[in-house]
Formats: sequence, C-alpha cells, structure tokens
Amino acid sequence: MDDRPVMLLASDVESERETLASIFQDNFIIREASSGKEAISVAQEGNISIILLRFPMEDIGGPEILTTFKKDPMVQDVPVIALDIPDKPGCAERVVELGAADFLRPPYPPALARIRVRNVMANTENEWRKLEQRAKDQQIVEMNRYIERDSLTGILNRETFYRRVATLMQTNSTTEYCIIYLNINFFKVINDQYRVEMGDLVLKTSAAYFKSVVGDDGYAARIEADRFALCVPKDSIEMDSFIAGIDGILEGLSVPHNIRFYAGIYPVENAFLPVDQMCDRAHMALNQVKGNYLQRYAYYDKSMRDTMFEEQMITRDMEYALAHRQFHVYLQPIYNLHTNHIVSAEALVRWIHPEKGMISPGKFIPIFEQNGFITHLDRFIWEEVCRTLHDFRQEYGTVVPVSVNLSRVDFYQADLMDFLLGLVHRYGLQPRDLKLEVTESAYTENPRQIMEIVRQFRHHGFLVLMDDFGSGYSSLNMLKELPVDILKIDMAFVRNIEKGRRARIILASIVQMAKRLGMDIVVEGVETKEQIDYLDSVGCEDIQGYYFSKPLPRQEYVEKLAADVKAQKEEQEEKQKS
Ligand code: C2E
Ligand code: CA
Ligand code: CA
Repeated sequence: MDDRPVMLLASDVESERETLASIFQDNFIIREASSGKEAISVAQEGNISIILLRFPMEDIGGPEILTTFKKDPMVQDVPVIALDIPDKPGCAERVVELGAADFLRPPYPPALARIRVRNVMANTENEWRKLEQRAKDQQIVEMNRYIERDSLTGILNRETFYRRVATLMQTNSTTEYCIIYLNINFFKVINDQYRVEMGDLVLKTSAAYFKSVVGDDGYAARIEADRFALCVPKDSIEMDSFIAGIDGILEGLSVPHNIRFYAGIYPVENAFLPVDQMCDRAHMALNQVKGNYLQRYAYYDKSMRDTMFEEQMITRDMEYALAHRQFHVYLQPIYNLHTNHIVSAEALVRWIHPEKGMISPGKFIPIFEQNGFITHLDRFIWEEVCRTLHDFRQEYGTVVPVSVNLSRVDFYQADLMDFLLGLVHRYGLQPRDLKLEVTESAYTENPRQIMEIVRQFRHHGFLVLMDDFGSGYSSLNMLKELPVDILKIDMAFVRNIEKGRRARIILASIVQMAKRLGMDIVVEGVETKEQIDYLDSVGCEDIQGYYFSKPLPRQEYVEKLAADVKAQKEEQEEKQKS
C-alpha cells in the first residue's frame, strides 16, 4: 500500500502544475485540479494532507477558496500554501490572515519549495498530534470520571474511595483522619411509598451535601444503596451541626421525620489498615445508634469489635455446644418468707464453654432469639427440667414445681402446646409442675396471639407467670385483662424500694390489685434484709434472689431441696405431735 501523503496541486496554469508535480512526486501522491471549482470539490473528497493553491485563478479567486476551505470541516485543518501571490506590501500578511500556512512565488526553486512544504507539514503534524493527544486525554478523563464515580450521585464510588483514602492517609501522615459512615434508616420506605425518583433525589441531594461538607480536605463516596462514607481530618466536622444540616435537607425534600441518617465514626489510628475495614468499624459504631431516637451518631471503640467477634463465636459454636451438652440447667430456689421453705424454683440456662468458661445468658439469649436457635435451646432446657422433676419424685416421692422461661420466639412454633403436653406426659408429671414464664414485653409486642396461646396453656392446666412485670409499659389496668396466674415483679422495683416513697406506693398497689384478682406474686432479685422486711410488710411472701440463694447447678439444687423437704416433713410431724 502506498502510504505517501496526498498533495493537491490546484492551478489553472498547466506548466505550474507540471513544475510542482515534478518537485514533489517522489514524496507525495499528487492530485491535480485545473480550476478553483475543481480544487474545492477534490479537497472536499477528503484525505488530502497539503494543498498548493494558485491564488490568482480565473474562475474563483484564492481568497474565496480559502474562505470556503475554512468553513468545511473536511478541509479546514489541511494546510494550504498560496502560490503566485502578488508581490505587493501587506499581501503576504493578508494571505496568512486568510488561513494559508505559507506562500511560494515562481519560479519554484526545488530545494526551497521542498523546505517550505516540509516545514508546513511538520508544524501541522505537531498541531495534529497535539490535537489528537488532547482528544485522547479528554477521553481518558471522561472514562476515569465514569469508572471512578457513582453514576447516580456523581461522587466517588466505593473502590475509588478505598484507593484514594489509602493514598491520602499514607501520604499525609501528620494529619489524623476519621471515617464517617452514614446510612438512612427505612430508606426502602421512600422507594416503596413514594417513587423511585424520590429515592434518587434524596440520594443525590445528600451526596451533594456530603461533598460540600468534605471540601478539598477529604473524600465523600457512595458505598452502596443508601450507604455513604466520608474521610475527613479528625475534628474538622462538628457532628451535631453536620447532622442538623442533613436533617434540614431531607426536611426540605418532605421526607418523613422517622426516615433519617445515622452516622458512625471511626477515628483512624492506623493509616495502613485497609480502608474497607475502617469502614466496617465506622459501620459497627453506626449500628449502636441506628433507630435510636435521641442519639444519631456514635464513635467506634474497641469493645464493639470484641462484641462482634463474641457474637460470631456464639453463632458459630451454638449447635456444637447443644449437641455436646455444654448447656446446663441451673436452678434458683424460690422461698416462702413465712415457712422459710422452698416452694418453687426457676430454671436458668448456663453455657459452660470449654475455653471461655461460663457465658452469661444475657449474652447469648438475645443472639439466639435473633437467629431462632432459642427454640432448640428452650426445648432442651424444658426437657432437662422435666427429667429432674421426674428423678426427684422417684427418689423423694414429691414434686416441687419449677418455672421455665419461654421466649417470644417459641410462640411462633405451631407445635408449642403439643410439645409441652408431650413432655409432661412422657415424664409422668402434671402440667402444673411446670410453670411457664412469659415476659411482659412479649405480651406488649404481640398481645392477641400470645394471650390466646396463654389461655390454652391455662386451659390445659399449666400455670403461667408474667415475668419482669413492671419493666415495660403495661399499666395496672392491664392486669385485669391478663390471663396469668402469677406476677413476677421485676428486680428494678426491688432496687427502687430503698430509693423512694413513690416506688413503694406503686409496689403496694400492684400487690393489692393482684391479690384482688386472685393472682400470686413472686418478687425476684431480692438481696437484702431491708428489702425482705418491706416486701413482708406489703404482703409479698414468695421471694427469689441472692438473699436466699443464687442459681445452683442441678445436683446442688437437688441436694438442697431434698434437705428442705426432709426438714419440712419433720416440722409437720412435730406439729402433729404437739
Ligand atoms: P430472668 O428470667 O429475669 O431471670 C432472672 C435473672 O436474675 C437471672 O439472670 C438470675 O440469675 C438473676 N438473679 C436472680 N436473683 C438475683 C439477685 O438477687 N440479684 C441479681 N442482681 N440478679 C439476680 P440470668 O440467669 O443471667 O438470666 C438472664 C436472663 O436470661 C433471664 O432473665 C431470662 O430472660 C434469660 N434466660 C435465662 N435462662 C433462659 C432460658 O432457659 N430460656 C430463655 N428463653 N431465657 C432464659
Ligand atoms: Ca424468668
Ligand atoms: Ca425476670
């Protein structure tokens, strides 16, 4: 293929074309035009690299042709050398002004002509190269913009944020930074209840706000969906006014008040920690406040990470632990103040982990309630209790009832009643030997369903306790409608007895009301003689708490109970004698 550039020789003087053609034919593919008109049409076909144009042509003058070229995108960048321009002052300047790159006058000395043409070509090529480069740069910038930015909001996307933040922190080692992680709660509601456009608008407006707050000292990015992250120098953002600002923006968009941003802040200690892990930590802090009405942001601290690891460990080990009997039943006796004997007990689970030792139920029960494992654990505990009652009766001829805890999650199992009845039957017990503790908060959460099931329990002869009474929102009035046999008064009440008259008055009226409604009362968490005396004075007789006994391992409880049963018998025999 011939890769020589194309030269257009435009002249209505044949000898002139011949002269020039002979000079350039080795280096150029020569095309000729013998009139102004033809020059224009050949040039417009394109692919011409340089035009040598005779100025004084018969049909159309050089200036006119040049003007036409300059208007045509196909030709406007092709350099033109004007031929045979008049040798008058100002003429050359005028030609250059019209857009010619240079001019030549006859006779055309070959060496000079070649140099002039080569210079023009070289200049133009430089220009072209620059133009091309500029276009390429522009494209790269555009492409980078596209790759680095979130398409909806125009702020950085996650990957770019991670990359740039790492560089920023590592190169500005004297500045301390923090990561702020942001998330809207109930964002889904905006998309569901309004339109997707509304959701988009909220995201875009928030993103613009974040970007303006961050300014040039940091970065703002959309991590995904309604999650954003900012990286800013420590203490450069005053959090309260920052949150007030974003609240104002959402309000301006008529977003309902309960849909709002929450923030978690991770003050970066180690600039070389991967940025996604920094974001995880800020996210952990966010989870501490998400949905909280009063607190909108929180700072990360190490305990959060420990908590998360612990939660992961608990979830990972739970099934193995159940299968390998790491869960144990402890029993805490309940005493009657007047007889001083054990009237009942509460079964409380303990996880004795081979490495971690005893783990408190306060740690794992909430996790099991979330992942549903609690139903397996509870059923295991209930069965252990039934077995203990059965064995005790075999040995000592009597049963002292035990109460077990039911989680609200247990109520979602359709076979709950059948399971309990089956257990009691299998171990030769009466339903009333197993008392069922249901927390007050479970009632308030799902009152109808739970009340209905509780009615059925009682119908089948189980005794039902309301656990933690007074800890939630149930009013005294509610007592009338509750289908329970026993109220278990929350420890918080006992704590408050010493604190104030008001708490004592409320406690006294609960006791009165419960008695009038035929309910029994157990008070839990009783630790001191003063508490006992007061409870005695208002008529509370059944007491659970460290004052009498901590929860005991099964064997210890059984021994204590056996001794108590024996003592009770002896007392009765004593009485009968006298
Ligand atoms: P809860 O049902 O209110 O149990 C009473 C808690 O108070 C027990 O804590 C008990 O050890 C503690 N306690 C008893 N007397 C005193 C006292 O005088 N002072 C103080 N400060 N505390 C006392 P524990 O065993 O840590 O159980 C915590 C919670 O875990 C229980 O609260 C219950 O909601 C749940 N739980 C325990 N075992 C089970 C179970 O087998 N199944 C279910 N679903 N939940 C359980
Ligand atoms: Ca309980
Ligand atoms: Ca309780």
